[in-house]
Amino acid sequence: MNRDGNAHNLQLVSSKGKAPTGQPEAPFDALEFVQSLAASLDLDTVLERLQEHLNAQIGLSGWLFTLQESDATWSGGKEDRHRIEYGMSFNGSPLGSLVLMRGRRFGDHEQQRIEALLGLAAPALANALRFRQLTDRLETDELTGLGNRRAFEKQGAQWLADSRRQNRPISVLAIDIDHFKRINDRYGHPVGDEFLRQVAHTLRTTTRESDLCIRMGGEEFLVLLPGADLTYAMDCAERIRLAIGALRIPATASGDSELESDGVARATASVGVAAIGPRSSLQAAYQVADEALYAAKQTGRNRVLAGNGCGDAA
Ligand code: GH3
Ligand code: MG
Ligand code: MG
Repeated sequence: MNRDGNAHNLQLVSSKGKAPTGQPEAPFDALEFVQSLAASLDLDTVLERLQEHLNAQIGLSGWLFTLQESDATWSGGKEDRHRIEYGMSFNGSPLGSLVLMRGRRFGDHEQQRIEALLGLAAPALANALRFRQLTDRLETDELTGLGNRRAFEKQGAQWLADSRRQNRPISVLAIDIDHFKRINDRYGHPVGDEFLRQVAHTLRTTTRESDLCIRMGGEEFLVLLPGADLTYAMDCAERIRLAIGALRIPATASGDSELESDGVARATASVGVAAIGPRSSLQAAYQVADEALYAAKQTGRNRVLAGNGCGDAA
């Protein structure tokens, strides 16, 4: 690998402070550096290792990486007076911007070293970003943009573990649209799809940022509520039920439909609720919520019911 060969990947965006320094250089092994970054496809790990190397080489107070595609940010250390910012790209595709901060100014010589290091780091960063995009896609429901069943299993397990560690309650809601088939029958599949997208939007807006909204499949959704005990979860479920019941999607009934229509698609929702107990697994809690949902359907739909024995499921 050649430092200069990769320098075109970088573009210095802004630099506050410039001073010749003549700092002693820490020994640098380019191969070890590249290998340590390329050894992981996890973006957090790659950024962490990059930061460690930059810190060892030039000394940093803090750093901030902003992803080009989504403006998501990663940061470490603390803000400081002097900042230097690089737009990073690889093979012509922008990756993001990296801001480095510290109390002393960045000298010309140091800037050259940073550029060389970032040039070497760009391929590993690009791979980690590609891997992230791939896993994001695998965990995203295409129609609604919510997480899918896979996201529930993966992220849900992490959140459950976090809640346990922090000794906080966590609850789950199983939501199913009532007589959803009628919407498709009356107005056609595209209107059904739009209704599902609106349900997803409703879930996002009725829950907190930290809650996990999932489309399990078809017209079945799930919300994981970290920090929520059964009372809070029941309230949240009721808000969701009311909000879904208030949705109105302008729609024209299909020509061959014999069913009556007033030009808007509407539906109600049934919700089953379970608080996840200290010994319960995610799957067991989901089952409890799903059984409550089934009971809500059996007893007339358009209602919220708490699961039996929720929290105790083994
Ligand atoms: P219930 O109140 O008992 O839940 O009745 P339901 O009609 O909602 O339930 P059922 O399981 O009988 O039908 C679900 C329907 O959801 C059937 C299927 O065609 C429709 N559906 C599943 N996925 C999609 C989708 O992605 N888009 C659309 N438009 N419809 C879907
Ligand atoms: Mg249904
Ligand atoms: Mg269903």
